[in-house]
Amino acid sequence: MNSKVWLSSPHMGGAERTYVQEAFDTNWVAPLGPNVTGFENDLQDYLGQGYVAAVSSGTAALHLALILLGIKAGDEVICQSMTFSASANPIVYQGATPVFVDSESETWNMDPAALEEAIQQRKASGKKPAAIIVVHLYGMPAKMDEIMAIARQHDIPVIEDAAEALGSSYKGQNCGTFGAFSILSFNGNKIITTSGGGALVARSEADKSQAVFLATQARDAAPHYQHSHIGYNYRMSNIVAGIGRGQMEVLPLRVSQRRAVFERYRTALKAIPGISLLAEPEGYISNRWLSTILVDPSRTGGVTRETLRLALEQDNIESRPLWKPMHLQPVFAHAPYYGSPVSEKLFDNGLCLPSGSNMTEPDIERVIAIVLKQLP
Ligand SMILES: *Cc1c(COP(=O)(O)O)cnc(C)c1O
Repeated sequence: MNSKVWLSSPHMGGAERTYVQEAFDTNWVAPLGPNVTGFENDLQDYLGQGYVAAVSSGTAALHLALILLGIKAGDEVICQSMTFSASANPIVYQGATPVFVDSESETWNMDPAALEEAIQQRKASGKKPAAIIVVHLYGMPAKMDEIMAIARQHDIPVIEDAAEALGSSYKGQNCGTFGAFSILSFNGNKIITTSGGGALVARSEADKSQAVFLATQARDAAPHYQHSHIGYNYRMSNIVAGIGRGQMEVLPLRVSQRRAVFERYRTALKAIPGISLLAEPEGYISNRWLSTILVDPSRTGGVTRETLRLALEQDNIESRPLWKPMHLQPVFAHAPYYGSPVSEKLFDNGLCLPSGSNMTEPDIERVIAIVLKQLP
């Protein structure tokens, strides 16, 4: 059996152990400590703006963002349909209803026209959406000028789900700095990982403090345990943050490595009929967290993305269909949806190829050779 090639596996830089060791040496094992502050500062410096609260996951960060925006039972929250389920689940945690919006074909992210339509129609039916969750899928920035303009015009706050887009930028502005709140994820498969973790990026010190307060069980200032709010246990630990500090030292390198993997696929596959790769529009920089292709069976002699996925699996190589849109998920079957079937077609024809920054040249060659072998 050939060695396993993963879709996206953790890639440590080396310094992680030093920060974790330091935490052990000083007994800052739990819960908070200098690594948490250090990691938050590293992220703030990298983003160039914002107030970062390190938390236990990207999902927790999204939940906190919704709470801080006052999202409550009965509210409606607009969410990009083509995303990972964690973008939408926290809406339901709050007792609110997700309203899903289709993608456009240039970036695969929220279609501004479908967003406008959704807002108009929800307003007409008596309910103004309480927030908008936009995602930069696979690291490709969404059309933020258009989306922010619509949000401003209707006075609806935007939450930027940048879980897949740390290291991406849009017209010179880093992903993770748009909207009322941004969230990041350091889950095991992301461009950098802390084994599991996330961050909320707030726009004010006050919002960050409130997030940290809620994330640490909402304890009032008192010598005894005193509570006036429902709290959460969402804070990142000092051990986990040590891994994050080490990973931040190699983030720019990881971005260039992921982009290099994409370039290898692009060079090898760009001339193949029926195979297309997502280009960066002018001013967009993707971290190329995952390299993706679209397969048009009408131009490949019937070869589908599933043909390719199974052939790769035969050779012990992990690939995955593009994320299945939320409006097609059984759990969200009754949620309202606006758009044409762009995201449905992407799901039918798209494949994520192995994209890890730790892939070797022979790994990449293996993937390319197997893909090419299936095609006429
Ligand atoms: C990974 C991911 C999340 C959730 O992050 P976790 O840290 O795994 O909770 C949210 N949104 C998107 C788009 C993601 O890819």
